[in-house]
This record gives sequence, structure tokens and C-alpha cells, in this order.
Amino acid sequence: MPDFDVLIVGGGPVGAAAALAVAGRGLALALVEPREAVMHADPRPIALAHGSRLILERLGVWERLAPVTPIERIHVSQRGGFGRVELDAAEAGLPALGYVVDYGRLAALMRSALDTAPGCRLIRSAVTALQSGAEVATAQLEAGSASRSVSARLIVVAEGGALAGAGARTKDYRQSVVTARVVSTATHRHTAYERFTPEGPLALLPMGEGMALVWTTTPDRAQQLCELPEAGFLQRLQDAFGGRLGTFTNVGPRVRYPLALKVGVSAGLRVIPIGNAAQTLHPVAGQGLNLGLRDAWELAQTVAEHPGDALGASAHLSVYRRRRRLDRGGGIGFTDTLVRLFSNDVAPLRVARGLGLALLGAVPPAKQFLVRRMTFGTRG
Ligand SMILES: Cc1cc2nc3c(=O)[nH]c(=O)nc-3n(C[C@H](O)[C@H](O)[C@H](O)COP(=O)(O)OP(=O)(O)OC[C@H]3O[C@@H](n4cnc5c(N)ncnc54)[C@H](O)[C@@H]3O)c2cc1C
Repeated sequence: MPDFDVLIVGGGPVGAAAALAVAGRGLALALVEPREAVMHADPRPIALAHGSRLILERLGVWERLAPVTPIERIHVSQRGGFGRVELDAAEAGLPALGYVVDYGRLAALMRSALDTAPGCRLIRSAVTALQSGAEVATAQLEAGSASRSVSARLIVVAEGGALAGAGARTKDYRQSVVTARVVSTATHRHTAYERFTPEGPLALLPMGEGMALVWTTTPDRAQQLCELPEAGFLQRLQDAFGGRLGTFTNVGPRVRYPLALKVGVSAGLRVIPIGNAAQTLHPVAGQGLNLGLRDAWELAQTVAEHPGDALGASAHLSVYRRRRRLDRGGGIGFTDTLVRLFSNDVAPLRVARGLGLALLGAVPPAKQFLVRRMTFGTRG
């Protein structure tokens, strides 16, 4: 007999969502996470789509997530080129196009929700190796100097991509992203801005009274931006973004992340990666966690539909993979195409981008399609 029916590796937002969605079904369930209160200090802003809000509501965490800042409009433009588009929640018949939250707060809240999830055991360890097998899969756990292995019918890998790295398809974007909270003289009026520049997209998301900056650029420039004194940084931001939000007056601590696309390959019998462990995306369109939450939710649905002794068997895993194929492929293709099309300064492409944006702005069904795609993902 395996130790568990379902073992989840990683208690970030995606692993925690999977555990919360599977808990309470009478299964032997455990989640392994080495950190006490997950990355409280990680300041990255997360734009959650309305579809993710619906998942978090069902998991009972949404109402405890305050403060969240709704995005009512998204303004997309390109620097040095014509064409822009504005997406509007009311036009799309949605209460909001998205909600901006703090990653650290979301992750900590979801972890604390696990403390009261029925029948979910929390194991404070790091998984150092996984072994798939016909009857059970095993995980090697390490906490301090202690090491042991546990077995499960199904191991769900949600550790953000480190373990699933072997054999994964990766593409280094040669870009880094700098995040920080900024304050400007004009109020955001719940509008998010995405401005494409030749070095990468610059996004400003409404967050509380101020804005959250997500600025993609070359790795060298990202380092310089983090090291600049505050006044110099604010001037660079002003030059790159322009005056649409008045004058930038304050910036909080700046944090930089390297960017790569990582697509996990089949992890073997009885092992399934979800979230960033399955696909790590460029943050250009704020898709990664939204896609990961849909992975977690759909996986839990397939767990509910299969008897305990069928969990993790190839028939079960094929159902899950089939249901996620379109959404996953759509998310990977959409973000990768945006990065390739928009992160350059080739004149004909600049004109084509302008035409594309102008056309998108002028054709309501095209805008509706884009909003639905970003809200609920790609559906079959
Ligand atoms: C700057 C930036 C902005 C972003 N903005 C958005 C956005 O607006 N919208 C959006 O949807 N997405 C966004 N993303 C992407 C989003 O952050 C990720 O998709 C999301 O965090 C993935 O969640 P996860 O739970 O799969 O992985 P993670 O968040 O990486 O969590 C992994 C967990 O696994 C644990 N772990 C690690 N190794 C082990 C191990 N060996 N054993 C056990 N546990 C382990 C870690 O401690 C952690 O708790 C952004 C990303 C960046 C970098």
C-alpha cells in the first residue's frame, strides 16, 4: 500500500490550490513544502483574472484575500509607434478585467487555509528526487540532515519548476523583469497600462492607492535600474512611460527576476506537473498563475471523477493531459508570440503592430475574444 493516495510537492499558490480542491474527499492526501510561511517577502504583483477569482471563491480563500485592486480598464500601446487599444470591463460584461494582489500575501493565505483543510497532512521538507513507477511513485524528502522516502499513487509536482527541470524545453528570453511599487501625481482610476518597448513590455498595474510596476528589459539594464538612486530611477521610468500618469514621485524596493520560457515534458508514470512546474511563462500578459490555478482546479476534478485505486494510472493522467492541452498550449503560444512580436524595433513590425492594435481597437468581437481568453483561458 502506498503511504498516500495523492502527494503534492510544493505549497505555492498552485500546489495549495490543488490541495484545497482535493481535500475533504476521503483520500490520504499530503503536501510537502520546505518553507514555513511561503515567500512573504516576494513583492511581485499578480493580476488575477476573473476566472481565477471564481476558483479562489470555490476554495474559500477569495473573501479573505483583501485588499485586492480591481482592474476596470487595460490600456495597451507601443512606444515610438501608432496604434493603441483599450479593453473595458463594463464593455465585456465583467465586474473587472482582473484583480491585483501581492504574491506573498496570496501564497501565505493559501498556505494558512491548508491548516484547516480536512484530511490534508502538511510535511515540512524539501523533495530532492522523484521516481515514477507502475504501481506507485516515490518522493525523496529531506529536512535538515534527515532523509526518507514516501510513496503515493499520484504525485502532483507544483514546486515551481526546479525538479521538473530535467528534460524541460527552455528558451532564455535574455530579458529580466524589475518590479516595484511606484507612486505618481495622477490617480490610476483602476486602469492598467501595458506599454510595449523594443526592450520588452512595461506594465503599470493599479495597486491600492499607487501602482505596481512590472518592467521588462535587458538583464544588464534591469541590474542598472535596481542600482540607480531613486531620482534617477524615477526619471528613467518617466522617460519610458511618458506623462499619462502625471509625474512619478516615489518608488519602493526594486526586485529583479530573470525570464525564460520553460515547458515541462511528460514526467513519467504517476507523476504530473502543474503550474510553473509544467510551464513557466513570461509575465507579459499575466498568465502564469492564472493558468496554474486552472491546472490545479482541473486536476482536482479528474481526481474526483476517478476511484482511489485508479489515481495516477495512465488512464487518469491521459484524461487530465487531454483536458489541459488546449489551454496550456494557448497560454504558452500567446505569451511567447507577444514577446517575439513586440520586443524588437524592426520598422515593418512596428507598423504591423500598430495596425494590429488599431484593428483590435476597432473590431469589438476581436476585443471580446481577447478579454474572454485572458479571463477564462482557451477552452475546447
Ligand atoms: C514579476 C512577475 C510577475 C508575474 N505576474 C503575474 C501575473 O500578473 N499573473 C499571473 O497569473 N502570473 C504572474 N506571474 C507568474 C506567477 O508568479 C507564477 O506563475 C506562479 O507563482 C506559479 O505558482 P506555483 O505555485 O506553480 O510556483 P511557485 O509560486 O514558484 O511556488 C512553488 C512552491 O514550491 C516550493 N518548493 C520549491 N522547491 C521545492 C522542493 N524541492 N520540494 C518541495 N517544495 C518546493 C516553494 O517553496 C514554493 O512554495 C508573474 C511572475 C513574475 C516573475
